[in-house]
Amino acid sequence: MGAYVHLPYCPYKCHYCDFNAYRLPRAEGARAEMARAIAREIEAAPGKDRQGRIASIFFGGGTPSLFSPQEIARILAALRERYEVARGAEVTLECNPGTLDPASLQGLRAAGVNRLSIGAQSFSQETLRRLGRLHTPEETRQAVRMARAAGFANLSLDVIYGLPGETPEDALKSAQEALALGIEHLSAYALELEEKTLFGALAARGELPLPPEEEVVRAGDLIEGACAQAGLTRYEVSNFARPGRQSRHNMLYWLQGSYRGFGPGAHSHLFGRRFWNVSAPGEYLRRTAGGGEAVEGEETLSPQARMGEWVYLRLRLAEGFSLAAFARRFGRPLDAAYPGVREALLRDGLLARERGWVRPTPRGRWLLHRVAAPFLA
Ligand code: SF4
Repeated sequence: MGAYVHLPYCPYKCHYCDFNAYRLPRAEGARAEMARAIAREIEAAPGKDRQGRIASIFFGGGTPSLFSPQEIARILAALRERYEVARGAEVTLECNPGTLDPASLQGLRAAGVNRLSIGAQSFSQETLRRLGRLHTPEETRQAVRMARAAGFANLSLDVIYGLPGETPEDALKSAQEALALGIEHLSAYALELEEKTLFGALAARGELPLPPEEEVVRAGDLIEGACAQAGLTRYEVSNFARPGRQSRHNMLYWLQGSYRGFGPGAHSHLFGRRFWNVSAPGEYLRRTAGGGEAVEGEETLSPQARMGEWVYLRLRLAEGFSLAAFARRFGRPLDAAYPGVREALLRDGLLARERGWVRPTPRGRWLLHRVAAPFLA
């Protein structure tokens, strides 16, 4: 199983972001208070949530690198105390350039963090400014250099493409700059507009100069080519890695493994049960301070929904899935569970014609929502 820890504070709010993230409160001690609350939540986790061995721990946010190594170590100690954490478990921390220095990186290494996921987003200063991000491309390069010097052998960078005013060549240049840093993993996401963000509002008023879809598709293809040249293979719609460096944590999500989430708004999927915590940090702190439950909601998926989700998540993976694996898992052939669906997708050129396997074509990958829709209906 995996553990996810949500640290919800950021130094600023980016114009495209609708994550459960908030500006760091001014009050002295806000981070320490959140770290203590999360450690308390871990310590209070009931026995039925602690049956698995943890193979991956992921600190996401927010900007977890705003927290001190001591605060991260406090949370890790609580996890190690209450759960069996596998030797060699992957421990990832998301961070933003400009929030790291050599001492904090060494502290994180000493605490047991062994992988960093760095939010570069772009290597164009002008694009970063448009995104509302307050760091520079040079701070990203510096973060990678400092992380290497501190002994991090497993680094991932995030970039976004399809950005306002960006050409496919600009997107390629950013990805090439990221790859030139010799990273093990790259996540390249096409910009998604979210309603409740500044970008969402600007787009609704027609004031966001977004590139046309063909250009976004071309940018994605150029990035894939640059990754291949650098020795990173696509293993998921938006993720590329050197051999053996795929994100263990994300693979756990895509393969429907079990994970327990801690912190405001964190979701859990444990042995078939799904539940999630209250999102607002203030309410989360209030509840956990009084020894109360942070969990706010729970759902159990119907067998049909679980089957649809299984198909959708595997369609995201480059390897897709075998018809035999589906039949083994659900006791009947795919074509019996979804009559006519595979044939129609093959006809439309959205699934590849490969004996015994189901995989989207490059076009199908772009239109994954269309490929997945009949399985999720
Ligand atoms: S740093 Fe990340 S989580 Fe924070 S506001 Fe920006 S995109 Fe959102």
